[in-house]
Amino acid sequence: PSFVDFRGVWLAYNDELLAEEKFAVEDINLQVNEGEFIAIVGPSGCGKSTFMKLATGLKRPSRGTVEIAGKEVTGPLKITGMAFQAPSLLPWRTTVQNVMLPLEIVEPYRSSFKQKKAEYEAKARKLLQSVGLGGYEDKFPWQLSGGMQQRASICRALVHEPKMLLLDEPFGALDAFTREELWCTLRDLQAAQKFNVILVTHDLRESVFLADTVYVMSKSPGRFVVKREIELPRP
Ligand code: ADP
Ligand code: ADP
Repeated sequence: PSFVDFRGVWLAYNDELLAEEKFAVEDINLQVNEGEFIAIVGPSGCGKSTFMKLATGLKRPSRGTVEIAGKEVTGPLKITGMAFQAPSLLPWRTTVQNVMLPLEIVEPYRSSFKQKKAEYEAKARKLLQSVGLGGYEDKFPWQLSGGMQQRASICRALVHEPKMLLLDEPFGALDAFTREELWCTLRDLQAAQKFNVILVTHDLRESVFLADTVYVMSKSPGRFVVKREIELPRP
């Protein structure tokens, strides 16, 4: 069975300028296997962000169904983690405090506040060390380079051990060297933790380097279709 299953998914929105109904995505059919790393490439406006919102339950399809882990998605999912182009770390929290945030949200402190907090912190520190951010745990975001911030934001997306990681252009703002370093970090993390990844990117080279399967989302007039176009082994 597929881990992610989009069947005939359409999302309508109301075009306020033309006062008519339009579709942000039309008839997406896509299956992702457990542990698979897929990339979606395509031009601006083809529906990539909409796809991501549908995959996390931030939007509901107007037509069709989205199933994740065998269950229809009806609202935001705890089993996913997300990272975006901007690292968006909270400036008043240190790196480790940023990374442990999802644990505080997913498993709120109950009776044993102090003990839980120590556990969360230990977990976040371990993860930060595994991506080469040892020594930066107690610094604030502004004391880190862009690449380090992005590393931390990927840690934040993974700290609660999600089954699926959604990445929307996470390396877009980085220089070429830092970007390729982070590609390797991501591959190491995925090899160790075996989560699914859906990566949205404009960078074809990145998609081929990282993903098991690359999908091209096209934007023909009025139509946005996901289709399987390229399937290459990892280098
Ligand atoms: P991408 O992420 O690939 O740039 P989007 O998913 O953001 O594409 O959008 C797909 C298309 O649908 C675009 O043409 C966008 O302008 C349009 N769209 C999506 N949602 C809305 C909305 N709520 N209001 C207006 N236009 C929207
Ligand atoms: P919600 O998530 O609450 O449904 P939307 O994401 O649809 O809200 O955004 C609300 C407004 O933002 C829309 O009415 C639209 O004008 C604009 N908007 C949202 N996404 C897009 C997009 N991808 N392209 C263009 N406009 C958008």
